[in-house]
Amino acid sequence: MYKLDPPPLLFESSRRGRFTACFPSSDVPGRALDDLIPAAYRAETPPPLPELSELDVVRHYTNLSASNMSIDTNFYPLGSCTMKYNPKRNERLASSPGLGAQHPYQAENTLQGLLAVLFELQQFLAEIAGLHAVSLQPAAGAQGELASLLVAAAYFRDRGEKRTKVLIPDSAHGTNPASAHLAGFEAVTIRSNAAGLVDLEDFRSKLDDQTAVFMITNPNTVGLFDPQIGTLARLLHERGALLYLDGANMNAILGAVRPGDMGADLMHYNPHKTFSGPHGGGGPGAGPIAVRDFLAPYLPAPLVARNEDGSFFLDHARPKSIGRVRSFFGNTGVLFRAYCYIRSQGPDGLKQVSEHAVLNANYLLALVRHVYPVPLGTRCMHEFVASARGMAREKGIRAMDIAKRLLDHNIHAPTVYFPLIVPEALMIEPTETESRDTLEAFAATLLKIAQEDPAQLHEAPHSTPISRPDEVKAARTPVLRWKDAGRSAEGVAS
Ligand SMILES: *Cc1c(COP(=O)(O)O)cnc(C)c1O
Repeated sequence: MYKLDPPPLLFESSRRGRFTACFPSSDVPGRALDDLIPAAYRAETPPPLPELSELDVVRHYTNLSASNMSIDTNFYPLGSCTMKYNPKRNERLASSPGLGAQHPYQAENTLQGLLAVLFELQQFLAEIAGLHAVSLQPAAGAQGELASLLVAAAYFRDRGEKRTKVLIPDSAHGTNPASAHLAGFEAVTIRSNAAGLVDLEDFRSKLDDQTAVFMITNPNTVGLFDPQIGTLARLLHERGALLYLDGANMNAILGAVRPGDMGADLMHYNPHKTFSGPHGGGGPGAGPIAVRDFLAPYLPAPLVARNEDGSFFLDHARPKSIGRVRSFFGNTGVLFRAYCYIRSQGPDGLKQVSEHAVLNANYLLALVRHVYPVPLGTRCMHEFVASARGMAREKGIRAMDIAKRLLDHNIHAPTVYFPLIVPEALMIEPTETESRDTLEAFAATLLKIAQEDPAQLHEAPHSTPISRPDEVKAARTPVLRWKDAGRSAEGVAS
């Protein structure tokens, strides 16, 4: 599996007695170790830490950091993830001492600047959503889904209604049914129709008095806006059920249409997607949720609120709240970057963001669809899903081969094999921050790959340290102890 020699682990480069820092000898009188830590609490042998020089460590981590792809180094058309440029202005502001050096246990009157920012962000997110109240607490989109469903459950409990089901389209992100299950609901799948939208007949047949919530991503994961949304909302509300909007695709509709106006009662945002927070490698993210007024009492507590004298406080006095879902104020660093982004774009700028995101995706779609057919829809919103099924049948070139080969061209792979309703899916989202040149170069690369020798493609990538790790094994049986990993390719891939 290795194409190049794997870099040595720090433990392997270790040399007895090598060190990084030279301290002057201490002028504080020494004390016996036993006086400080009783022998019973001490290990018998020192921990097996690597011993290295400073330069060894600097090179090791610098090289590791450069062997990954990132937005700052590579085009990253990872569908659904909205991998847009992370403005450096936001990074500078987020790391300013005024924010970064605060401690969450500080007294509220010394945190007024931070609370003011969070309060305003709650208001901005409510406005963009067309909804009434916002909690910034959830730490990711998925946790926002869970928190929202707990809010819905608390609402129905309060009304003395027992509703057990959450309806979810088959094109949904996997976190939707997972959240429904975690929140104690039964997840019921709604089929997509031949156009890639909610199958209204299937929806009608499954909507009943047991239905608590319908979770929809709109535009959906196929990159299509579902124009039936008004009808769906009406049917749900007639039955007393709630409409949830998965806001992962807000980058397509900012300033154009608001979830509240579509009839949504509650939703989550992914600020690390829509509002340019850096993400990848598992976090951190944030997942603020917005709800209609009648659901506000159930939001996680505390919310950031304003006193009559204009000062800000954390409002814990919310008796119907589902309680905390995250420590302190949520992931402040991510939220602050979102705040900077929203403030620097302004309302018109946010609208342009979405217009350009949609324009870029459609331009790319037009450049590649004659070779990479897009089965659902003639145009798209901010992303589209091509299918390599034809190529797989005719030449044995699969979506995975294309994704892997792109790495040789220093392009991050699109999302593959999702959504599940498109066979051999390649889900491509360029975002608004890419130039026309980048889009054209990417399209040319995709077209070239389609002409390459299938046997060679099965071996791609050829230029990365690791070629094709067993991803399932890596996820299911991770090897986290360096000793156990040995130097087997499998172990390191894990
Ligand atoms: C990313 C995404 C989620 C989950 O959000 P996280 O912030 O990754 O937890 C949910 N739904 C859709 C459609 C997504 O793209």
